[in-house]
Amino acid sequence: MTINSNGILAGKNILVAGVTLDSSIGFAVAKFAQEQGATVLVSNFGQALRITRRIVKRLPELPEVIELDVTDAEHLAALPDAVREALGPDARLDGVVHSIAYGNPETLLGGKFLDGPWEDVAQAVQVSAYSLKSLAVACRPLMSEGGSVVGLTFDASVAWPVYDWMGVAKAGLESTARYLARDLGGDGIRVNLVSAGPLRTLAAKAIPGFEDLESMWTTKSPLGWDNTDQEPTAKAVCALLSDLFPSTTGEIVHVDGGFHAMGA
Ligand code: NAP
Repeated sequence: MTINSNGILAGKNILVAGVTLDSSIGFAVAKFAQEQGATVLVSNFGQALRITRRIVKRLPELPEVIELDVTDAEHLAALPDAVREALGPDARLDGVVHSIAYGNPETLLGGKFLDGPWEDVAQAVQVSAYSLKSLAVACRPLMSEGGSVVGLTFDASVAWPVYDWMGVAKAGLESTARYLARDLGGDGIRVNLVSAGPLRTLAAKAIPGFEDLESMWTTKSPLGWDNTDQEPTAKAVCALLSDLFPSTTGEIVHVDGGFHAMGA
């Protein structure tokens, strides 16, 4: 698809936080957002930043890449200036995508729930849930009415096999999104989540026993589910970033082939 100056994100500046490989959901979001006319900035942190800078060359347009560890107070404080440096002194942000999670797979996932140590749980909650608040607050000076913050969850309303403490972190993320929607609503900024089905990304492949979740989806989703296709999830994220959902906030949109609505 070519870049669309009449697309649903035409003229918008979007920061996508959490792109490592071209399998990352964030990569698919960045790609579809560019195709819909957005100017995209990408962020990642640490050693993977080098990989990100290489991977973004596969996008339709080469985006600026910003270093951002969402647990680093200095990075967060420097974010508005980093965005201005990339996009110009008067730059604003119309959309922010939080596509970030981490939980130690050795101690927190794959059936380790009863033994998960607090230090690792605290890290998972900070990186995967609290950081939605950190990122939104860091970007707030650049955002105004009509702005949109979108994060990614894995339905935390129930307990899953193998997902364990990441499920608890996602429950925290879902609640954080609702409180952010409350507190940023006065600025006209929306905060929503997309709840995706299992997708074969770096983070997912690190979960021991992830195939158990994948096989459930294949048999139960009324629409079927392709765990290698990030595009349906990316499209929903971009729809929420656009002006097409002006009165929707505190919402969780399921992009899971309909799995969540089936009893058996
Ligand atoms: P991914 O490609 O591994 O993306 C996760 C990203 O989070 C990576 O870029 C990772 O960077 C980054 N990250 C981790 N700690 C960070 C920190 N402290 N500061 C900044 N960035 C950090 O995996 P993904 O599946 O696309 O995950 C994106 C989001 O979708 C996550 O919230 C995930 O839980 C959610 N989700 C995934 C699925 C699925 O089945 N894949 C389903 C539903 C929801 P590094 O690579 O450098 O660690």
